[in-house]
Amino acid sequence: MKIYSCETHIDQALEEFIEKEEKFPMLKLIPQDEKLSTICAQCKTPAIYIVANE
Ligand SMILES: [Zn+2]
Repeated sequence: MKIYSCETHIDQALEEFIEKEEKFPMLKLIPQDEKLSTICAQCKTPAIYIVANE
């Protein structure tokens, strides 16, 4: 799975990932050219981080 998150909601995103996948995720910064097309899963503002398992 993959969760996009802003600065504010990264803790919730990490918790949600661990709850669902039962392992610790990779935390990556969203590349500059993808920032405009990705939004936070919690608040719909532009996302900064990708929480994913690869
Ligand atoms: Zn957010």
